[in-house]
Amino acid sequence: MTDHRWAWTEIDLAAVRHNVRALRGLLAPGVEFMAVVKADAYGHGAVPVAEAAIEAGASALGVATADEALELREAGIVTPILIFSQPPLTVLGELIDADIAVTAYELDFLAALSGEATLHNATAAYHFKVDSGMHRVGATPADAPYILQEAAHLPGLALEGVFTHFATADIPGDWDAAAQLAAFTDTVAAMRSNGINAGVVHACNSPATILMPEAHLDMVRCGLALYGLHPAEASRKLVDLHPVMAVKARAGFVKPVSIGDGVSYGMTWRAFQSTEIATLPLGYADGIPRSASGKMSALVHGQRVPQVGRVCMDQCMFEVPAGEVTRGHEFVLIGEQGGERILMDEVSDAAQTITHETACALGRRLEHVFVDHDADNMSSDFSGAQSAEPARW
Ligand SMILES: *Cc1c(COP(=O)(O)O)cnc(C)c1O
Repeated sequence: MTDHRWAWTEIDLAAVRHNVRALRGLLAPGVEFMAVVKADAYGHGAVPVAEAAIEAGASALGVATADEALELREAGIVTPILIFSQPPLTVLGELIDADIAVTAYELDFLAALSGEATLHNATAAYHFKVDSGMHRVGATPADAPYILQEAAHLPGLALEGVFTHFATADIPGDWDAAAQLAAFTDTVAAMRSNGINAGVVHACNSPATILMPEAHLDMVRCGLALYGLHPAEASRKLVDLHPVMAVKARAGFVKPVSIGDGVSYGMTWRAFQSTEIATLPLGYADGIPRSASGKMSALVHGQRVPQVGRVCMDQCMFEVPAGEVTRGHEFVLIGEQGGERILMDEVSDAAQTITHETACALGRRLEHVFVDHDADNMSSDFSGAQSAEPARW
């Protein structure tokens, strides 16, 4: 497929497995690991990432939308799946048929879910969401035990778990996160004293999994860290994560420019001296952030070279040492080459955003090449990309 284009992402499935094992290493025995693969696994490819995570011990999958859940089932994945919010009532029948658990936090939603389950002659699994302070979705701690008590009278429902979500877990020792955890555990205690079996109780996203071991409870839900991206500076010394996504391209065109020549829209960059410009065939429509124009680098022949001028929709330019780079030479925009490396954090910082957003954007249009450095095989023949020789057209 990459014969079609000289720009691609490399997705290292061995790194996914390593990260699941490293994160599970932080958990007490018996604590479950949910791999969060929403948004096409943060741009990494939901089905292959989910399969690799399951192989390494993930016992559940988390997604944001009904279609994301159905895609996993259609690929033959039988692992439990949870959708993190209340989907539209019009898709509930399909989700029940596919044995996909939904999140609930309102009694009228639970009544509709019960009605649909009865209609399908099946049991609808759900997890109940408590809003312990983030104020996004969920029932308040005051309402939650009451809603569950009422839901207990509805036929066809199976409460499989109760959960909450932290707003500030990436700040070590944060008081708001501690207050959320206390509000949540108090709410679960109130449910239990009302005779409700809360099932699997869970709260941790990636930063909480790494920084708040006291919040692990019965299961953790990791997205970002699964992809080898650190949710906080403080997490770097606590867990060894391997980056999963690399972004690579080959020079499509290389040419000299003279002193004073402008490059790209607006000519915001001009050559200070005679130099050479390599054009790579990827741009902001591929997730290379335009807001990071002129603030990024790439590796070519293991050396850093600066990106210059505005990033265009489908192309971007780099200043390269004269005479060293020709058409077809491989550039690494994110990843390793010749012992040097560029982390996704660097590109995200330059764009003043977070790696979650950068990864999602990079996953949208670029072809994924899945590699498995453990098995030392690649899903497409890319041996030519590893050599210093330029590829041929
Ligand atoms: C996205 C999400 C997660 C994963 O968060 P990360 O910080 O990427 O690990 C966990 N739980 C819920 C409810 C989410 O929406």
